[in-house]
Amino acid sequence: MGLFSGFEHIVREQEPLAPYTWLRVGGPAQYFAEPTSVDELVALVKHCAENEVYVRVLGSGSSLLVREAGVNGLVIHLAAAAFSQISTDGNKVIAGGGAKLSHVISTAVREGLAGLEALAGVPGTIGGALHDNADANGTDIGQWTTKATMLSRTGAIVEQQGAQLRFAYRNSSLDELAILSAEFTLEKADPETLTKRMQKFWIVKQSSQPAANENPACVFKDVGGMNAASLIEQAGCKGASVGNAVISQRDSRFIVANPGTTSDDVLQLIEKVQSAVEEKLGVELETQVRVW
Ligand SMILES: Cc1cc2nc3c(=O)[nH]c(=O)nc-3n(C[C@H](O)[C@H](O)[C@H](O)COP(=O)(O)OP(=O)(O)OC[C@H]3O[C@@H](n4cnc5c(N)ncnc54)[C@H](O)[C@@H]3O)c2cc1C
Repeated sequence: MGLFSGFEHIVREQEPLAPYTWLRVGGPAQYFAEPTSVDELVALVKHCAENEVYVRVLGSGSSLLVREAGVNGLVIHLAAAAFSQISTDGNKVIAGGGAKLSHVISTAVREGLAGLEALAGVPGTIGGALHDNADANGTDIGQWTTKATMLSRTGAIVEQQGAQLRFAYRNSSLDELAILSAEFTLEKADPETLTKRMQKFWIVKQSSQPAANENPACVFKDVGGMNAASLIEQAGCKGASVGNAVISQRDSRFIVANPGTTSDDVLQLIEKVQSAVEEKLGVELETQVRVW
């Protein structure tokens, strides 16, 4: 592997990406790496910058649609323990970009730290949640974030804190290549009460969204305060399908990829729904899922 000589122990070629995504469709990554430390990640990113290799970062793949052709360049998966550490310090929780959001929430709740529990049941990593400012039950992750450490495309460590941090609906100022870690400043509360709150949020969420084994993705964004699911239903697209890709019966913002679905099916279904909503309601529906 000439291009990645010196990195053979962490870089693989033609790695299928479907198993790393919730939709479970799509082709391979030309190159795929799971670095084991920040130093290794920095060296790899610098090497890619010098050799003009485009780099993407993968979290839990719960908001990703990979095209059939797969992706050129390098996909980095921050799956190693070095990127998923979680610690607490007074009323702060510090978590790695690869840490599961659910683990961070349960750590906070156990320590009697309130704020993030409203996000119980949102899948994905801290990196993915911060990148698109995950929200649920009127709470977004951004409102509790007080610091973030990132890695730029040239391999420089960049920090944002205080007023530098900006969060909006499905958007954040954290747009460097990789979010390495973040600090959340939370509020002291009774762990038992918090546990009950977290469980309630989790149960309600599980009953209102498709299950993980249905291979779902939350595809469509709400538009200016209008709920995307109700727009899709008003346009007559509840349960619409292309091939084996179907608009979820539970929540029309979701597409579920039944066995045999291709990425093209999902892409065509997205277009079909967008055209119907535009034609019937004059509203432009945008996607929140990232297409690679
Ligand atoms: C069943 C289900 C329910 C959902 N419910 C909600 C919900 O209630 N609220 C909500 O907001 N979302 C929801 N989502 C969407 C999804 O869970 C979130 O967007 C989640 O935060 C994505 O995290 P991820 O780790 O899976 O990111 P991925 O899908 O792997 O990546 C998404 C984007 O984030 C980037 N990214 C990932 N990690 C990093 C990193 N470390 N550094 C820099 N960039 C990174 C990727 O490059 C990509 O652009 C739901 C999805 C599903 C399937």
